[in-house]
Formats: sequence, C-alpha cells, structure tokens
Amino acid sequence: MDKLLRSQLETELITTEMVKHCSYCVMISPDPLHRTPIYCIKYSGSNTPILVNLATCLSCGAFKKCGLRFEQS
Ligand code: SF4
Repeated sequence: MDKLLRSQLETELITTEMVKHCSYCVMISPDPLHRTPIYCIKYSGSNTPILVNLATCLSCGAFKKCGLRFEQS
C-alpha cells in the first residue's frame, strides 16, 4: 500500500510539473490534498480561472503544446 501511494504521488508530481508549463494554467495549489489544484482559464472563457483536477489536464493535453522540454543528461 505504501508503495502504491508513493507511486501515485510521484505520478501526480510529474503531471503537475508538466501542467505548470501550460499557457492556460495560471496557478497550481500547493496543497497536495486539493482535489482540483489547477487554476485553468481555457474553459472559463475569461481571465477568471476555473479549478480542474490533473485528470482533466491529462484528457485536455494542452500542456503538451506549450513549449514543454525535457532535459537529457
Ligand atoms: S485543463 Fe488543459 S488547458 Fe487547462 S491547465 Fe490543464 S492542460 Fe492546460
């Protein structure tokens, strides 16, 4: 169970790291227990963000078009 929880948290951290580069994402809640931590303006139709969860971002995929780069060593 501990391993599963750790894996889930790692996945959420990686997703959050990618989503923060999305041009529609104006803020991400630092609270790890926040169920809808992403403040997104894409679906609000204005500069006032709506709150979405990471699953919504994965479905949307807009963050993939926002200059996301991975560094290789
Ligand atoms: S829902 Fe889509 S547009 Fe909004 S922050 Fe997530 S990836 Fe970006």
